[in-house]
Amino acid sequence: MTVPTTSRREFLATIGALGAASLNARTAPGAEAADSEKPAIDGGAPVRSSPLRSRPYGPQFYDEVERKELLDVLDSKYPFRWWGGDSKVLQFERAYAAHIGVKHALAVTSGTTALFTAMAALEIGPGDEVILPAWTWYADYDAVVLCGALPVFAEIDESLAIAPDDIETRITPRTKAIVPSHLQGGVADMDRIMAIARKHNLRVVEDCAQCAGGRYKGKYVGAIGDIGINSFQLSKTITSGEGGAVVTNDATLFERAMRFHDVGSLRAPYTQQLNNGLLAAFAACNFRMNEFTGAVLKGQLQKLETICAALRKNAAVIREGIADLPGVKLRKTADPEGDLGSVVFIDLGTRKRRDRFLRAMAAEGVPGAAPGGSIVLPADPRIANKVTIHPEWPSFNTPQGKAIRYGAESCPRTIEILGRTGGVVVDPKYSESDLKDIVRAIRKVYRYLDS
Ligand SMILES: *Cc1c(COP(=O)(O)O)cnc(C)c1O
Repeated sequence: MTVPTTSRREFLATIGALGAASLNARTAPGAEAADSEKPAIDGGAPVRSSPLRSRPYGPQFYDEVERKELLDVLDSKYPFRWWGGDSKVLQFERAYAAHIGVKHALAVTSGTTALFTAMAALEIGPGDEVILPAWTWYADYDAVVLCGALPVFAEIDESLAIAPDDIETRITPRTKAIVPSHLQGGVADMDRIMAIARKHNLRVVEDCAQCAGGRYKGKYVGAIGDIGINSFQLSKTITSGEGGAVVTNDATLFERAMRFHDVGSLRAPYTQQLNNGLLAAFAACNFRMNEFTGAVLKGQLQKLETICAALRKNAAVIREGIADLPGVKLRKTADPEGDLGSVVFIDLGTRKRRDRFLRAMAAEGVPGAAPGGSIVLPADPRIANKVTIHPEWPSFNTPQGKAIRYGAESCPRTIEILGRTGGVVVDPKYSESDLKDIVRAIRKVYRYLDS
């Protein structure tokens, strides 16, 4: 399924309650007064006396739907996906695949095990290199190392996703895959990444853990690369506390993923769906999702678009409300309409201005956010020092693995960009008055940044 691309006009029309007024940033809620108010950090009255807080999205939408699905599993007395009749995990897989527009979806225990499974499906192993953004979650790096392959980092750009112009400089004859990570609700520049991958015959693994429901040029993220993964841990768009998924249009990759996640085997109804299986079994794992998790996710999937629409609407109100601030530079995006809207980031120019922004926002009771949820991986001590569970781990035992140097000095551009970026986290249930407070706080502190 491909999502029809909305025109900019239709998109703005969906911003909602504020309607036409929000098109004119000067009349945005909270705009007029805030520009002349004294910031709280300078002794003015704070925008809020009790700080605004965002909460994990999914659980705010738990209701009778998830409750009923869960009770079905309890009543069935078969919380294991392959032994009952009507598996919730299977139903979730089918609904999820249909929703994002891929042929196959496999539910697993986490985003991390989904990445490990995706690497195994692509037959990534010792001697192979995989290109990752220098800023993403540990799991991208760990999945590559656990396969015995060598992670190679590329810088990010102002979209906070992997910089396409830096990928090509990292490609060697051993490179097998690229992992664009759609971070903090933003989408990576998939057209450019896919073009580079095709040119060099590389596979693309989309990490959508921070962007479930995000779209790029009318397609859901995860449906563009060779294989995609998601996470349903508490901090993601929809959640069962823990959980993950692997998605692909490729039947062979799917069969290998299926076997890797389930002790090498293939079971009904997938045996039939995959022509009885074309591959032999191999050494594998158990990353099977249980039925309770599948039940909650089946319910949560029905809320995915509601959550995304609320995030996008709220983010649009904030963006429109600050759009006229002098010199304001919102985060670069590869597709503004596909962006999830879970964070609104501003490029504040320097780390000093960003840090002032965070301190001043905290004083207003509307906490600002630095880019979060990921790590500057090359600078992390366990990665900088290539620590593994065995000293002769294949990743770092080849000439390339011995020679590679990580550390903060390997990704200066990434560190510089992250250091000057600040913004606010968006909650799908923020009220109009919460959004007004956010706009007012940003406008109040904005001029203070250069004072
Ligand atoms: C959360 C996350 C993961 C891992 O997911 P888990 O379910 O926590 O294992 C992978 N990649 C990114 C970008 C993430 O944010």
